Amino acid sequence: MAKTDIMTIDDILNKASQYLSEDDTAFIRQAYEFAEEAHADQFRKSGEPYIIHPVQVAGILTELGMDAETIAGGFLHDVVEDTDVTVEEVEEVFNHEVAMLVDGVTKLGKIKYKSKEAQQAENHRKMFVAMAKDIRVILIKLADRLHNMRTLKHLPPEKQRRIANETLEIFSPLAHRLGISTIKWELEDTALRYLNPQQYYRIVQLMKQKRDQRESYIKEVMDQVSKQLREMNIDAELSGRPKHLYSIYRKMVKQNKQFNEIYDLLAVRILVNSIKDCYAVLGIIHTCWKPMPGRFKDYIAMPKPNLYQSLHTTVIGPKGDPLEVQIRTREMHEIAEYGIAAHWAYKEGKQVQNDKKSFEEKLTWFREILEWQNDTHDAEEFMESLKVDLFSDMVYVFTPKGDVIELPAGSVPLDFAYKIHTEIGNKTIGAKVNGKMEPLDYKLKNGDIVEMMTSKHSYGPSQDWLKITQTSQAKSKIKQFFKKQRREENVLKGKEAVEREIRSFSIEPKDVLKQDNLQRVYEKYNFSNEEDMYAAVGYQGITAASIATKLTEKLRQSKEKQQALEQTIEEVKTDGKQKKVSKRDSGVKVEGIDNLLVRLSKCCNPVPGDQIVGYITKGRGVSVHRADCPNVQTEEAKQRFLHVEWENNRTEQKQYHVDLEISGYDRRGLVNEVLQAVNETKTNITYVNGRSDRNKMAIIQITILIHNTAHLRKIVERIKQIPEVYSVKRTLH
Ligand code: MN
Repeated sequence: MAKTDIMTIDDILNKASQYLSEDDTAFIRQAYEFAEEAHADQFRKSGEPYIIHPVQVAGILTELGMDAETIAGGFLHDVVEDTDVTVEEVEEVFNHEVAMLVDGVTKLGKIKYKSKEAQQAENHRKMFVAMAKDIRVILIKLADRLHNMRTLKHLPPEKQRRIANETLEIFSPLAHRLGISTIKWELEDTALRYLNPQQYYRIVQLMKQKRDQRESYIKEVMDQVSKQLREMNIDAELSGRPKHLYSIYRKMVKQNKQFNEIYDLLAVRILVNSIKDCYAVLGIIHTCWKPMPGRFKDYIAMPKPNLYQSLHTTVIGPKGDPLEVQIRTREMHEIAEYGIAAHWAYKEGKQVQNDKKSFEEKLTWFREILEWQNDTHDAEEFMESLKVDLFSDMVYVFTPKGDVIELPAGSVPLDFAYKIHTEIGNKTIGAKVNGKMEPLDYKLKNGDIVEMMTSKHSYGPSQDWLKITQTSQAKSKIKQFFKKQRREENVLKGKEAVEREIRSFSIEPKDVLKQDNLQRVYEKYNFSNEEDMYAAVGYQGITAASIATKLTEKLRQSKEKQQALEQTIEEVKTDGKQKKVSKRDSGVKVEGIDNLLVRLSKCCNPVPGDQIVGYITKGRGVSVHRADCPNVQTEEAKQRFLHVEWENNRTEQKQYHVDLEISGYDRRGLVNEVLQAVNETKTNITYVNGRSDRNKMAIIQITILIHNTAHLRKIVERIKQIPEVYSVKRTLH
């Protein structure tokens, strides 16, 4: 491709007439005339008439061998964007296909790319392909970009860098994947010149210095090969393969190599007429020079994904330097240079013009390449995604910040919202598409700029959203929300039910819903927190009554005790009035309560000095037991204990019953001696009983009246002094 030559309209028509019909040539001339008139008063930044740009774009497409519609599209590609002409007019004057191509290029022109991350670049490329619908739109866009890169020097530096960067990220990978290496290399070399001018000019300089040396070397190689080819009668075309600046730059940067180390600077290309000749030439090369192991690649048998076919080998050349050789047919070379466009040209040339089926066939053909090739990993992935985009309908839309979001076709703003963030989805109250409010079931189109309106006070998703949304991601997040929301409802419902049950015990919920009490109960039921417990009550996994019973048990026990006490007090008061029962003087006082019926328990007969407890009986007042009395040792009894104490000032006047059991050797006079000992202490005896067993062991039971424990100890000590007495015990009834 003539890189920098300006093509005139006549050059283009000449070139086109070599492969297009007269009608087609006339058709593209008409497109030129239409464009020239539309852009008549416009100028480029360079100061040249604007029409120069579309003419060069159409020229590039002609050199690629494109069909008449595409070339016409090249002439007309800017009229809708930059002049008053509408797509409808283009369709009227030309045809639907041209209008569709122009419309496609116009739409692609609206995509603004902001370099951010690799994923975004990839999404942009995919969006391009998806939006283009027809691959020819991309070819026009590539030609447009190529000419813009050629004239980039007229723009301010900041714009130059932005456009150069976009070219590297979006356009050269597209050119590469469509196999159009001639455009790819030129885009990359030009981009490098603006992005890293220092390195660019350094490599240019180094290449210049080596040029003479390289050219004489290549000439020597070519002379030797040509001689052999003539002998074999093979028609071949040899050239020193120019190396592209950007690929040298990348090797220097990525592989950290010096310029001199990049040996495939020395390369020759040999074009022949047939595949048979390719292998014959390969044999000659390998006979002349020693091949380097592992460097032979047969891309004829195994084409690259972008259809590239060639034999590659590297040999140790005449001067001992590695020499790269590429061998391929002229047709393969066309495809290597023009890729998908070359294929177009071949098919187009052989086909009847205006074949309505041709568009569908092109797509079919494209689909075949996509499915057929599976060579390099990266290319495979691209093709895979391309396939998805072209044939199973994805839609690409922008965030307000310019990121591209990929969604299945038919997606609505809610799908977009949930793809961005769950909270954005849940808080959605509306959507703006391209600055205009749209309903939430609006079907997104490629290139739409979508802005979600959210509110903190949103009630969250509605059930309808499950029907509107297309993506499983959005649907599952909406379902999650409902599940969570029901939980919240259940927690509330459960808490209310528990509080109601608590009130039924005449207890205020706040008196028992305290952290430590709650924790005790939810742990008892194996919940990890109180919310889980309430939620379980809410969906009736457990009854509110059982939770309330547990929560209130302690408070209820102390209340019962209080109630029993109050009831007893009430009864004593009633008894006092009605039966005039005088209060029995027990010598025990109950703290804080007067006029209470208190009686000494008959089971353990407490005496002043003993440790005592008060036990609240049901309806029979308080009975006083010795603290160690076995009858009041149960947990239940302890719940009903009441603090009581002896009335000190009255201990001398009152007497208490105490039962003693005396054991000793049964001899004559023992009982008398015991009674005499008790008498000596001036203690009244109210009961005596004596017996003896077979072992001559006497057991004497007596009941005595004493004042207090000191009095009792004195008696016990006295009895113990009697000969043959072994033990003296206080007994229970
Ligand atoms: Mn343009």
